Amino acid sequence: MVDDVVIGLEVHVQLQTQSKLFCGCSTKFGDNPNANTCPVCLGWPGTLPVLNKKALEYGILASLALNCKINQKIKFDRKNYYYPDLPKAYQISQYDLPLAEHGTVKFNHDGESCAVGIERLHLEEDAGKLVHSSVSRESYVDYNRSGTPLAEIVTKPELTSPERAESFLRTLKKQMEYLDVSDCNMDEGSLRCDANISIRRDDGSLGTKAEIKNMNSFKAVRKALSYEVLRQRKLLSRGQRVVQETRLWDETTEQTKSMRSKEEAHDYRYFPEPDLVPVRIDKKWQQEIGFKLPELPDKKFNRFLDEYQLTEEAARTLTDSRPLADFFEQAIKPDVSAKTVGNLIISDVKRELNERGWDIGQVALTPAALTSVASLLEENLISSNVGSELIAELVESGGDPREIVEQRGLKQISSEDQLSSVILQVVSENPDAVADIRGGKNQAIGFLVGQVMQKTGGQADPGTAQKLLREEIL
Ligand SMILES: [Zn+2]
Repeated sequence: MVDDVVIGLEVHVQLQTQSKLFCGCSTKFGDNPNANTCPVCLGWPGTLPVLNKKALEYGILASLALNCKINQKIKFDRKNYYYPDLPKAYQISQYDLPLAEHGTVKFNHDGESCAVGIERLHLEEDAGKLVHSSVSRESYVDYNRSGTPLAEIVTKPELTSPERAESFLRTLKKQMEYLDVSDCNMDEGSLRCDANISIRRDDGSLGTKAEIKNMNSFKAVRKALSYEVLRQRKLLSRGQRVVQETRLWDETTEQTKSMRSKEEAHDYRYFPEPDLVPVRIDKKWQQEIGFKLPELPDKKFNRFLDEYQLTEEAARTLTDSRPLADFFEQAIKPDVSAKTVGNLIISDVKRELNERGWDIGQVALTPAALTSVASLLEENLISSNVGSELIAELVESGGDPREIVEQRGLKQISSEDQLSSVILQVVSENPDAVADIRGGKNQAIGFLVGQVMQKTGGQADPGTAQKLLREEIL
């Protein structure tokens, strides 16, 4: 049963334009319901859509990053269906001449390098949103999202496990964030994902697929797809068949549930949008957009390995987001090692960020201050404990590390004279540990070093403390 799982993803990425895809309304999230609407995005008869050039530019940028071929002539089509959140009873999307096709994305899964083909990337407008009140048992519709630009990215059915699907999605999200074409905020629905999943038959042919909708987090993708693999396997092992249908992931019961029989493209009666002319993508314009492509995560990762001699894990963490990678590079100066700076970010800065639920853009710590802390550590002027405390303080309220160390007397005590009285005190207060060490139990020395650190407020140099303790005891 190796590699018999076949998964293809359809990812909707909300492009972060100021205005909607076919009208000038704001795309701002969280405004009062229906505040950002006009006759176009409310679908009033007689109104005419106008294509947002910025959305097209973002779409091209994303297509280039996915190694897609950009089609020189594209057009928009109507996808017809009725739903209360779709006031025109059709969605403007792209059918047979999408923006881009035939791409590929490389991604890392558990140390294994994988790749998945990208079938296409097309632009389309988002629908509105239904809000169901459990109190009044009424439903409301908010058209603020109606007409927001989306890039739909469709992969080939080449992902072979739920975990790989998740790794790919994480890579895709990181790429879109690097490009700055979307905030990719999954809680606000800026990145949404549907999946087609089937189990390959014994003869190697593709099995019947089910489509899973409503997966709004990485965890949901992994869990919903894993559930579905088990469900389909169970059916097949009993000699029953998998029905082609759309299933909904239920976060609370952690099950997929049948929603409706799967519709085919012809059910939507696609036809060319008569209110929009086909668009020819100017080669020169496409080239100019290509020049704006930033260094992508994969490339940056490899460069960090080469240029700064980091471990793979460190390079991966530091390239996790573009702002974090930039912060790291800004803090590297000729007189400090990249490794010290990197370690401070990975252990101390990241810990402070996680505690506060912040990202690097929100800290009061500057790259220059980080450089300072790194050089204080390398000059052996502060202990690593003091370094951690400094970072915590700088993240919150900023400041000059050298000044703080000077004013508060935080300098590391590495002079043997200064430490010797504390060493004597610790030895006399802990006869049991001392006896252990004399009896050959070397681990007990760690406990005594801890006592020295405590008595000096973390300022003792642990190396010197250990050396002096040994000399005193043995
Ligand atoms: Zn509008």
